[in-house]
Amino acid sequence: MIISTELLDEVIAHARRDAPNECCGIVATRDGDAVSVHALENIQASPLRFEIDGLRLFELITELEDAGLELGAIYHSHTRSAPYPSQTDITRARRPIRRRPTSTSRVRGRASSG
Ligand SMILES: [Zn+2]
Repeated sequence: MIISTELLDEVIAHARRDAPNECCGIVATRDGDAVSVHALENIQASPLRFEIDGLRLFELITELEDAGLELGAIYHSHTRSAPYPSQTDITRARRPIRRRPTSTSRVRGRASSG
């Protein structure tokens, strides 16, 4: 994925705004190029973990797809550790993302880590 300095600055500003908690959001792409950054709420509000509400993520991905865009990346910050994937990140990245029917009152996020 190719991302402009301007969009990367949005991600960094989001991380600083939410510090000391981890921030999270997604980068939307078109043909592999980043076109927009979408800050999301870390519902864990934690300096060690993040979790995105699954229903909110589903809604946002649907909006992006309707606009001809794709989910390019889910990003999150590390505020107390090195800027490398944590063991939790690695473990959870191997889990498949499950989409449940939206008839349930809330789809809990599978996009979570620390
Ligand atoms: Zn992490």
